[in-house]
This record gives sequence, structure tokens and C-alpha cells, in this order.
Amino acid sequence: MSLTCFCSHTIRCISDRISYRVWSCSGRKMNRAKLGTMVNGNNCYSSKVVVNDPKLLHQKKAAIRLAGPSKFQVIADFDNTLTKFWVDGCRGQSSHALLQQDNPEYNAKRDELFNYYHPIEYDPQIPIDEKTKLMVEWWGKTHGLLIEGGLTYDAIRNSVANAVIAFREGVVELFEFLEERDIPVLIFSAGLADIIEEVLRQKLHRTFKNVKIVSNRMKFDQNGNLVSFTGKLIHSLNKNEHALDMAASLHDHLGEVDDQMMDSASVKKRTNVLLLGDHMGDLHMSDGLNYETRISVGFLNHNIENSLDSYRKGFDIVYLDDAPMSGVVKLVSELFSPASD
Ligand SMILES: [Mg+2]
Repeated sequence: MSLTCFCSHTIRCISDRISYRVWSCSGRKMNRAKLGTMVNGNNCYSSKVVVNDPKLLHQKKAAIRLAGPSKFQVIADFDNTLTKFWVDGCRGQSSHALLQQDNPEYNAKRDELFNYYHPIEYDPQIPIDEKTKLMVEWWGKTHGLLIEGGLTYDAIRNSVANAVIAFREGVVELFEFLEERDIPVLIFSAGLADIIEEVLRQKLHRTFKNVKIVSNRMKFDQNGNLVSFTGKLIHSLNKNEHALDMAASLHDHLGEVDDQMMDSASVKKRTNVLLLGDHMGDLHMSDGLNYETRISVGFLNHNIENSLDSYRKGFDIVYLDDAPMSGVVKLVSELFSPASD
């Protein structure tokens, strides 16, 4: 993979020794003409949205609108779903990848783990039960290195400040619209809750009472040193298992989360769901919920030509090429704004 890139962000990323997780700017090139032809056989690429079954989507919207906001919730993936795949033309960092400990030796150790386990994560030849054990091993070792390497909350704060990470345009509008209607947003991630919350604080400059992070959570001592992790370990292969139950069992809050809005019974009574993800596996995020109506939105950020067919079959709506969140904002406003009644 070429790492040729002339933007300052990527140069900074490379200097931070995480270049293996950064795609070159040239990697963004794609055959747009061909893609435009392959979407429904006509050129709808310019709109960057694909709806496989418009009639079914219309029915789902009508059912959700009829039930109202009190029956509705949003379940969202974080990396590359709420955040951009590309930031200023360069590959954005994930909430895990952005973390830099003060002790560089431990950053190198975590990089070594990534280089060893990441190919395993995507190796189709490895049985899922064996792969799951290896993912537990990877996450466990990584968390151990964070503690052993003396991670501090200040390092998290600095890492986020220096990170190549940005929310999609429209995320604030989406959260605000949902907050005004007391609609919960559960963010599921196999990353680190404390980092995600810091990204929210630094990049959005505010908190939302309706947003809750379900992810691996750190415990710091009074001096701001990481001492342990709390709760069940969430890795890439168990992220969706009982995620709603994990959400209900967490008591750490972002800002002034409304407990009543977020308690288990309340969440499970909200049987209409808007699911946001960027990976086919994200479709399972709603598995713990016996939902009545679900609208699934997929962000297909790269490898579009090879993945579009499966995404359009899996998701009700597919946004292409790192699209903004404005389409989702429009969707929820159609569902719940008085003008659409
Ligand atoms: Mg993701």
C-alpha cells in the first residue's frame, strides 16, 4: 500500500507511527463512472444514496411516524459511522487508533499486537469460536498494555486533540433533534468509551443528555492514572451480543443522561429503531431488541463497487462515499416533525 500523501494530517499520522492504519490520499480514487452505472442501472450516484426497496421504506416510515417518538430509539456505531472515513482527504483515525500513550515503547507494543491480530480478525479461514478467543486475547493484551504503560487521562485528552478524527456534518443537528424529543441514542463500540466521550467533548463542544456510550470503560485513580477496566470486555466480535443489556447495566454517564430515558425497561419498550452503521456486522446491533419496525442506514465509505450489492440488500438506505449525516437528519425530521404529520 502506497503511503504517498501530501497533506499535513497524514504526515503527522505517519510521524506518530500509525501509518499502517492510514490510507494514502491516492487510495480514495474510484471509478465513479462505472459506479454511477451500477446503481439501479441509472446514474443516481450523484445523490450518493441507494434505497433498495422504496415502497418498504415508505411503509416503515409510516409505521414509525404513527407510533411516535416515545416508541423510537437510535442505535449507532461510532467509528466511520458517526465519524468521517476521510478527514481533509486523508484516512480518519478510529477511537482506538488515535490513542498515544506518553510511553512510546507501549505504543509500539500495541502496534505490534495490531499487526498480528488485525489480519486474523478478517481471515475467513479461521472458525468464529477460535477467532473470538483470539479477539479476547488481543483486546485483553491491549488493555493490559494501557495499564502497564501508565496511561493517564491527560494522554487521552492530548491524543484526541491531536487526532485525525471528525464527525460527519449533521451529527450535532441529529443529536439535537433527538434530544429535543427525548429520543435515546445508544452508541455501540468495541473501542474505548472514555475516548469516545472525549471526542464528543472536544469535537462537538457539548454533551447530549440522550446519548449513551456502550463500550469498554476505564477506571482512573485520583491522580488520573488508569488502574483497570470496568464491565464486560467488548471486542469486535461480541460488540452486538446483548449490547442492549450491556447498555442497561452501565451506570456511567455522559453529561446528564436521563436515567428514566435510558433504563432497561424503557429502552426495550422503544420497539422502533433507527440503526446506523458502516459495516454489515453492524446490522446485528439491534439483535437484543425485539423490535417492531427497524430502518437501517448503512454508510458505505470505501470499496463501493465490491460491497454495494450486499449493503443495498442488508440496509434499507445506503449512503455512499463518506456522505454527510444530513440525509439521516432529514429522515428523522420526516418521521417526527409536526409538518410531516
Ligand atoms: Mg464502524
